Amino acid sequence: LGVALAGSPAQASGAPYQDATLPTATRVADLLGRMTLDEKIGQMTQAERAVVSPSDMTTYRLGSVLSGGGSAPSSNTTAGWADLYDGLQRGAMATPLQIPMLYGIDAVHGNNNALGATIYPHNIGLGATRDSALVQDIGRAVAEEVSATGVDWTFAPCLCVARDDRWGRTYESFGEDPAIPSSMATMVTGFQGERLGGPASVLATAKHYLGDGGTALGDDQGDVRATEAELRAIHLPPFRAAIDKGVGSVMVSYSSWNGVKMHGNRYLLTDVLKGELGFDGIVVSDWAAIDQLDGARGFTAQEVVTSVNAGIDMVMVPNEYRTFLTYLRQGVQNGAIPTARVDDAVSRILTQKFDLGLFERPYADRSYASTVGSAAHRTLARTAVQKSQVILKNTGVLPLATTGGKVCVAGRNANDIGNQSGGWTLSWQGASGATVPGTTILQGIQQVLAGGRTTTFAADASNVDASCSVAVAVIGETPYAEGQGDRPSGLSLDATDTAALQRIRTSGVPTVAVLVSGRPLDISGVLPWVSAFDAAWLPGSEGAGVADVLFGTVAPTGKLPVTWPASATQQPVNAGDGQTPLFPLGAGLTWSTGGGDVTAPSAPTGLTVSGTTTTTASLAWTASTDAVGVTGYDVLRGGTLVGTTAGTTFTDTGLAPGTAYSYAVRARDAAGNVSSTSATATATTASAPVDTTAPTVPAGLTAGTTTTTSVPLSWAAATDDVGV
Ligand code: BGC
Repeated sequence: LGVALAGSPAQASGAPYQDATLPTATRVADLLGRMTLDEKIGQMTQAERAVVSPSDMTTYRLGSVLSGGGSAPSSNTTAGWADLYDGLQRGAMATPLQIPMLYGIDAVHGNNNALGATIYPHNIGLGATRDSALVQDIGRAVAEEVSATGVDWTFAPCLCVARDDRWGRTYESFGEDPAIPSSMATMVTGFQGERLGGPASVLATAKHYLGDGGTALGDDQGDVRATEAELRAIHLPPFRAAIDKGVGSVMVSYSSWNGVKMHGNRYLLTDVLKGELGFDGIVVSDWAAIDQLDGARGFTAQEVVTSVNAGIDMVMVPNEYRTFLTYLRQGVQNGAIPTARVDDAVSRILTQKFDLGLFERPYADRSYASTVGSAAHRTLARTAVQKSQVILKNTGVLPLATTGGKVCVAGRNANDIGNQSGGWTLSWQGASGATVPGTTILQGIQQVLAGGRTTTFAADASNVDASCSVAVAVIGETPYAEGQGDRPSGLSLDATDTAALQRIRTSGVPTVAVLVSGRPLDISGVLPWVSAFDAAWLPGSEGAGVADVLFGTVAPTGKLPVTWPASATQQPVNAGDGQTPLFPLGAGLTWSTGGGDVTAPSAPTGLTVSGTTTTTASLAWTASTDAVGVTGYDVLRGGTLVGTTAGTTFTDTGLAPGTAYSYAVRARDAAGNVSSTSATATATTASAPVDTTAPTVPAGLTAGTTTTTSVPLSWAAATDDVGV
């Protein structure tokens, strides 16, 4: 390629395209007219920064680089990033036409690859806020922290509509109802600013087009089996909303639709997205996704042709970019890719670059460094954490008082900022431990209680005993990203968490459970054990926002952005599908804004146990009452939940003969409130009959024909009054 550069059009100093007063379309047309084929195909190529040097930028005329999976400079500081950016940009600007590069990164919940950045809740938590203005403010704040590093493009927001929680990217979704992600397209305005090219303007990406959250079994990169009408109704609306906000790029989904990979789907990429929806920005591929078109590893010349002709403008190659350039050049030269297609792709890329102001200001604006992890941004993140909490159960224990007895904090997610931040935090998969600066949930509780109640902490709950006034158990998931978070077999609570809760339960201390997770998990078994339940999602670096809700600094307002399944395997489960979930889409209690039912039902009365046989007991009680309505009763034997029923009778089975049992019954309402006192009764099962008679002797034993190695035996059955 280096040789071909000799034929490049002459220096363009003073050319119309360099005149910032001219309309973008005029500048694009002028510049395009000066470009060689190699310069054009370079623009269409996005390479991983780890394999590109500044001189490669010059030699190969690369249009874009990315830090995939957060690949950070060796000095992961704001200045380190800005130096990396400026070095590569100098390489791009050393080309004859001085076309600046675009640098893309996954700033998906804050500028999450840069150490010291503010980490916001992942999208599922933001969806729970239902606050699109807040989400726009977050986009703006993130754009400032991204701008500080020079980076001008973020692969966010993910506007996926997550329809199956087994999918490992569920937390990247604002919610299962297309209306929620659509309303959160305000994040695009936040990133880009009111117009591209204004202060701290970062190109946004609506991803992943189309149907990424609708694959069968929640399989990441899987197949969406749906009619076109279903595909459009569920997955298209958020993209319409983002285009309406002027989103500069759209990333194609790895997934397929009825067996056809999106990266080769010309109808959906060109006819629908660019035609019908009028999208005029950059269609960018996903990471090495064109490699998957033929099912074999690596990409072929044909895969390059197919994806570009389908409508992809820029290919995230990301490593073998030289081979990609060779195939792309060949494709154009042999006529497989029309020149008009290349010109369209390059025009779209240049348009965004001009509009961003990159030709005028190609280098990092380090004046934004002071915004990185700033107090203002951390306060914004803390507000988002507060608003993302969804209270699913409260018998009246919440809000907790800030004065009084000891607060015993437990659970492996209570003091782990890596766990509370999830995937896409400093690395692709994220990690447990003190990965980023910020405040853990435990530290947040300690801050809120400073000078008030004392706290203790043990991850395994060994600190919880009768000396605690209340226990706060912070349980849930540990970090993952993309397919590595797929859970095809279901969404059970981790055994470590169940064990911690079990231990707390034995102590008899009233417990508030806080679930730190990227999606709903099966909590139906442990919900009766706790007095309150807070779905905290993946809150990020500002754990104090969780404490603010638990201790009543603010009233909770979060609403479920997804339907909460009734079991580990009730998937997919979505609003309106006829199933009975544990909690419906939109559920969420509060205590001072009048929006939720916080009154527990009256306790059931008059429990009797009758008809006790050797192994079963029959229970009956008088119904409890509740303003909102009682949905069911929990039956406890010796303090352990043995069953639930919607009625007022219950048969307990599997009992030992001649044993005394004590029973209790409590009532639940639709909001998960549980009656605070329970009817109790005891009963003793009948003894088993004593059998003193031996059975009769078996008769008529015969031996059949002997073979070399076996003898068949048979006899007449014995009889006995109690049974042989
Ligand atoms: C993900 C994208 C991401 C890209 C670049 C891919 O694996 O699917 O969401 O933007 O990597 O990091």
